[in-house]
Amino acid sequence: MESTIEKVKCLIIGSGPAGYTAAIYASRANMNPVLYQGSQPGGQLTTTNEVENFPGNPEGITGPQMMIQLMEQAQRFGTDVRDGWVNKVDFSGPVHKVWIQDNKEIHCETVIISTGASAKYLNIPSEQHYLKMGGGVSACAVCDGFFYRNQEVVIVGAGDSACEEAHYLSKLCKKVTMLVRSEQFRASKIMAERVRKTENITILLNTETVEVLGDGQVVTGVKALNKTNNETFEIPATGFFVAIGHTPNTAIFKDYLSLDETGYIIPTPGTSKTNVAGVFVAGDAADHVYRQAITAAGTGCMAALDAERYLASLE
Ligand SMILES: Cc1cc2nc3c(=O)[nH]c(=O)nc-3n(C[C@H](O)[C@H](O)[C@H](O)COP(=O)(O)OP(=O)(O)OC[C@H]3O[C@@H](n4cnc5c(N)ncnc54)[C@H](O)[C@@H]3O)c2cc1C
Repeated sequence: MESTIEKVKCLIIGSGPAGYTAAIYASRANMNPVLYQGSQPGGQLTTTNEVENFPGNPEGITGPQMMIQLMEQAQRFGTDVRDGWVNKVDFSGPVHKVWIQDNKEIHCETVIISTGASAKYLNIPSEQHYLKMGGGVSACAVCDGFFYRNQEVVIVGAGDSACEEAHYLSKLCKKVTMLVRSEQFRASKIMAERVRKTENITILLNTETVEVLGDGQVVTGVKALNKTNNETFEIPATGFFVAIGHTPNTAIFKDYLSLDETGYIIPTPGTSKTNVAGVFVAGDAADHVYRQAITAAGTGCMAALDAERYLASLE
């Protein structure tokens, strides 16, 4: 362990749209922010080719390019962007202690948590292949549904989010086939009813994905198993949407912060404040509803402003 403890006014954990937006505001407010990028520099958007819904890019932009621009904008105002990730925190006292890979200890006046969330996938090889190719596998209907206008898609999932995403896709796509692994939805009655009543959604209960089919480059269909009669069959589709939930990257905070049952940090409504004074949250780490770059950026701005006002109140 490095012997000297570093003192930091504003530590930002995470380098997605929430972290970099917080960094832009914090650095322009002379808070000298230090930002740790974590194991996925640039965050979730670095895994997507096309971002068409972030305002300011009329022609669209690739996810990696957008995140480089956000990083450069934060650095231009003096944000200290560093490699490394936080593996331990202690928020029990007035000084917030944070450890970088067990090696470096930092004492922070304020901490902005923007560690995001990770989409869950089925983790079958064909799904991972087309996900990596950018060839038709997605975990975000709102982000990618538009690319499948008037086409046939398959969505996997049984909860409220899956129903919401299937309904969203039904407005864009010719046909949506929803694969539900068990005999019934996990979703609330009202959400399940909504998909049942939508004409171009076909619900297949007791059915699971065997393989995502394609030509090596793009998805062309899905091989599914009807668990009632044990028969496999193929569904033609150009898009395969996975809506089986997200895991917020918040495990290291669980001993100090209020989390909901899935692990999302619970902020004071309408603010970025957590239950610990001086610790703020932004982006998908606290958002299981919207999960968009623009909402992450918006809450990143809120977190920096809340942190600045907190510091001012101490003076
Ligand atoms: C394939 C895909 C396509 C998408 N397309 C779009 C789109 O077109 N438009 C849109 O608006 N949204 C899109 N989204 C959603 C969007 O990416 C997220 O809503 C957004 O990135 C959330 O931003 P965030 O800053 O909260 O977190 P993230 O982007 O998840 O970033 C989290 C950051 O925290 C870091 N981190 C995590 N743990 C630690 C730790 N312990 N220490 C240090 N750092 C840590 C990670 O390295 C990462 O840098 C897409 C998502 C996916 C997966």
